[in-house]
Amino acid sequence: MARIVVTGGSGFVGSHLCDVFLARGDEVVAVDNLSTGRLQSLAHLAEHPAFSFVRADVCEAIPVEGRVDGVLHFASPASPPEYLAVPLETLDVSSIGTRRALDLALANDARFLLASTSEIYGDPVVHPQSESYNGNVDPGAPRAVYDEAKRFAETLTATYRRLYDLPAAIVRIFNTYGPRLRPADGRVVSNFMIQAIDGKPLTVYGSGGQTRSFCYVDDEVRGIVALFDSGVSDPVNIGNPNEITMLELVDVVREVTGSSSEVVFEPLPVGDPTRRRPDITRARTLLGWEPTVTLPNGLARMRDWYLEERRHGRE
Ligand code: UDP
Repeated sequence: MARIVVTGGSGFVGSHLCDVFLARGDEVVAVDNLSTGRLQSLAHLAEHPAFSFVRADVCEAIPVEGRVDGVLHFASPASPPEYLAVPLETLDVSSIGTRRALDLALANDARFLLASTSEIYGDPVVHPQSESYNGNVDPGAPRAVYDEAKRFAETLTATYRRLYDLPAAIVRIFNTYGPRLRPADGRVVSNFMIQAIDGKPLTVYGSGGQTRSFCYVDDEVRGIVALFDSGVSDPVNIGNPNEITMLELVDVVREVTGSSSEVVFEPLPVGDPTRRRPDITRARTLLGWEPTVTLPNGLARMRDWYLEERRHGRE
């Protein structure tokens, strides 16, 4: 039984990671300052004997006593409107916060895993994106507070590996959706799903011709845990290569929710990438990982979750 620290443990992906480690018999300490994460996402674990929650800002300290076998650093706002609202905190958590998380792993001789992102590819000129592509990010653009912070976090992680032989992994997470993506998160899937359920217009930014590739959270987390368990140190894309335009996403959301909501077009955010699709050859080859949940099936599970939350009066 390993003792695992998940920073950002009350966040969307972080809370699912806590579930997976606990389910296989590990002990889990979730650390979060609750800036974008919610205790509600961990409420089902409150009585679990192998689970504990520490409220802390990882930029200040990660106050976890005792042995640690693994550190997964997931603390950071991840939704564009949310990280743009707290640009300095976003830069801090992936720089200072990553340093603290790496130091915790180093002090314990623990496996480290950094949550990086497809955003490090910026607005990619190479398509699909394989890990060998170095990306196209404008360091002075507003979005760079997330993109460059994650790029810096990758550099820090690689440096700890080189300097100290720290067993460190880097996952590049592509757009992920599923239960526990907060209705007010601001990302496209939660926006469209809630708008459709409420019979409100779906807000398409720009022409809707831009693409993304959406991965269901169970697939994503299975890939992350496989990477954590492996000895792989090079960055690995974990995402679903099924690429669609935002207008195509509108159709799938309408279908799954039975909604006939109209579409309203709103301005495209500055620096919004035009396309994104992971090349997952490395994950397939090194981890034997493959996503299995189709978009309509994943969205149906998300719809059921939102409706269930509503029934319980939760938002
Ligand atoms: N988007 C949209 N309507 C929304 C929210 C987002 O059309 O209500 C677009 C956004 O401009 C982007 C895509 O959907 O092109 C994915 O946005 P999201 O914020 O989910 O993730 P990211 O841009 O980080 O991939």
